Amino acid sequence: MLVAGRICELLAEPFQLGALQVKVSASIGIAIGGVDGATSNSLLRLADMALYGAKAGGRGSYCFYSEELNAKAQARGELETGLTNALKNNELLVYYQPIVSAVTGEVTSFEALLRWQHPERGLVSPVDFIPLAEETGLIIPIGEWIFEQACADLARCPKHLTVSVNCSPVQVNSPRLVNSVKNALQKSGLPGERLRIEITESSLMNENSQVVARLEELRALGVKISIDDFGTGFSCLSYLQRYPVDCIKIDRSFVSRMGGEQDSTPIVVAIVGLATGLKMTTVAEGVETAAQLRELAAMGCIEAQGYLFSPPRPAKDILPLSNKLRDAA
Ligand code: C2E
Ligand code: CA
Ligand code: CA
Repeated sequence: MLVAGRICELLAEPFQLGALQVKVSASIGIAIGGVDGATSNSLLRLADMALYGAKAGGRGSYCFYSEELNAKAQARGELETGLTNALKNNELLVYYQPIVSAVTGEVTSFEALLRWQHPERGLVSPVDFIPLAEETGLIIPIGEWIFEQACADLARCPKHLTVSVNCSPVQVNSPRLVNSVKNALQKSGLPGERLRIEITESSLMNENSQVVARLEELRALGVKISIDDFGTGFSCLSYLQRYPVDCIKIDRSFVSRMGGEQDSTPIVVAIVGLATGLKMTTVAEGVETAAQLRELAAMGCIEAQGYLFSPPRPAKDILPLSNKLRDAA
């Protein structure tokens, strides 16, 4: 343990390479001969698993092999195999949550939210499998499928309704993004103006001219770009001027703390002001009470989304939901 810690420490020290100062880090996985395994092959395999554990716990550290790590690796393997088959076996579903005008209460858009109807585990939440899909690259074919599905579902709805599709940083950084959007629009006949793409701040953290060009290309198709979970990504605000952005989604964590002990109202006011000044629209996420909605509308927030209106529902509920919310408006 002492030796592994010392190796990590020593390797983390910056060193000089010609004119450059270089900093590297090392992660170490440890398996013990005679305890964890008996052959060199099995020891290497288990040490590799421990290495994965060390990296998952934050790079630049060490980790010993354990039964718990083994169980986790097995569960991850099973999830990965399951997810690979999920697309082929039609186990993926898209649910839709309405986004309404904060002033009139009428539905303007539906956010497409992925679900996995697992044969044994039931309906699995995207938070439990999207990170793995991103790590393995499966998010690319899955994301293409969601674009197709969401565009086809909304193409069947009245023309004033748009669809908002989540797009992970892996997709934003992929050269396939524009073609997969074009393909989904073409196949469904949905005009680009009826599609919004939600990306997180982390997609825009490093200045990347290819990403700017990609987003511009999407906008030339009429597609709108929203920043999801705004304010949670520790990023520098200047990206709002460098990248073509149409809409800011105010994260649920700020909306839920409005008027609370750690009152986030000044933050929400500032975000709405910032968006308005930059000629962008705003959507408040996670609106659960009528009081929150009133306050948000008074601040000038344009749209709202949350359990106050409806949780995400299957595609067949899109029309009944938008009619119900129109009648209630
Ligand atoms: P998100 O994009 O921030 O989506 C909003 C999440 O908040 C959804 O969770 C929604 O069900 C939940 N929510 C909506 N209104 C309320 C409310 O009033 N109160 C509370 N407590 N929660 C509310 P969901 O569907 O579990 O999705 C979780 C996350 O998974 C999404 O967060 C998004 O980051 C990711 N995700 C979902 N579908 C996709 C997808 O198709 N592609 C990608 N890349 N990510 C997706
Ligand atoms: Ca979203
Ligand atoms: Ca969000």
